[in-house]
Amino acid sequence: MVDLRIGILEGDDIGHEIVPASVRIARAAAAAEGLSIEWVDVPIGRRALDTHGHTMPEGTLETLGGLDGWILGPIGHQTYPKVPEAINPHPILRKRFDLFANVRPSRSYPGIGAIYDDIDLVIVRENNEGFQPDRNVVAGSGEFRPTEDVTISVRVITKEGSRKVVRAALDLARARRKRLTLVHKNTVFKLGCGMFVESAYEVAREYPDVEVDEVIVDTMAMRLVRDPQSFDVVVTTNMFGDILTDEAAGLVGGLGMAPGLCIGRGSIAMAQATHGSAPDIAGKGIANPYAMIESTRMMFEWLGIKREIPAAIATAARMKQGIERALADPETRTPDINGTASQDGMVEGILQGLEAMHAHA
Ligand code: NAD
Repeated sequence: MVDLRIGILEGDDIGHEIVPASVRIARAAAAAEGLSIEWVDVPIGRRALDTHGHTMPEGTLETLGGLDGWILGPIGHQTYPKVPEAINPHPILRKRFDLFANVRPSRSYPGIGAIYDDIDLVIVRENNEGFQPDRNVVAGSGEFRPTEDVTISVRVITKEGSRKVVRAALDLARARRKRLTLVHKNTVFKLGCGMFVESAYEVAREYPDVEVDEVIVDTMAMRLVRDPQSFDVVVTTNMFGDILTDEAAGLVGGLGMAPGLCIGRGSIAMAQATHGSAPDIAGKGIANPYAMIESTRMMFEWLGIKREIPAAIATAARMKQGIERALADPETRTPDINGTASQDGMVEGILQGLEAMHAHA
């Protein structure tokens, strides 16, 4: 019997490089820690359109439903052909598996071009409602054009959706520095953001050990630049979270440093970096694999805690050591983070870091 069944969904463009790199590192760390994993290749994206006639071939959701988690590479849907078979799969996956919380950490490491040395925050972005028209309604789209020159975009906020994501953020804050910041704009969106904030305080009553404060989103955009060190866990609605997480990534070295884990109430997790498929650098061997590898590491840690598998927690810890070792040396860092290494060079650096720990242990 295997400990975990994990899917490999490469996605597009740099996904074909950074996802295999993440699997390579996870395999090595898992082997060293005695974690047995069954890896399952699941075709998705542009290549799946060519080979299976659909960017999310029939049977994908059923296959994923039988797994414990999966690594989803970035999806370059902007350049998909305009045919019904070419859809963006990730909103469907987030929705189908109720992965309502997108946990996106930003952390500074020395020498990589972070704007401050001591940033360590996590933004928890609501994933399945809000302003995202491809997932906030059951059928059709939350965006429509009643006349040629009028467009209406609907933002959906629910009590249940708000409570769920805030609870996930409070659990995370409890395991960290016990501070949670609610980001919203209830000064203007009195009903929508109002409901989010009210629901948040309702749940927060169950967490008296976590200190909760609030910041209006425009002020937050400024404060993230001025004093990002003052934040621990931040929770916000979908679109605000989408924008603020890229801003936070910019503070710590750019999109290559922006990992993410999509989670829900169940014990399935989806590792998905914040960045897109970076077609401008695909195939050049210079994409920074950190975000995808760290997302994968977060998945093993989360699954290990959730399912009480100590070897998965140890695998994540070993990956962390390898990653930190590679990040500490410009010769094992990619150029976007002040390094001289190719992507392969960085992966080798991480692998050596894993072994070094093994030798040390
Ligand atoms: P992008 O995130 O792909 O790239 C923005 C910039 O950041 C580019 O200059 C790129 O080279 C750089 N970058 C991104 N990841 C990097 C990495 N790991 N290492 C080094 N540099 C990196 O955003 P985009 O160019 O606006 O979008 C490209 C495609 O990705 C589009 O089709 C878009 O729709 C899609 N997209 C997908 C997701 C997702 O799957 N989660 C998210 C955002 C965009």
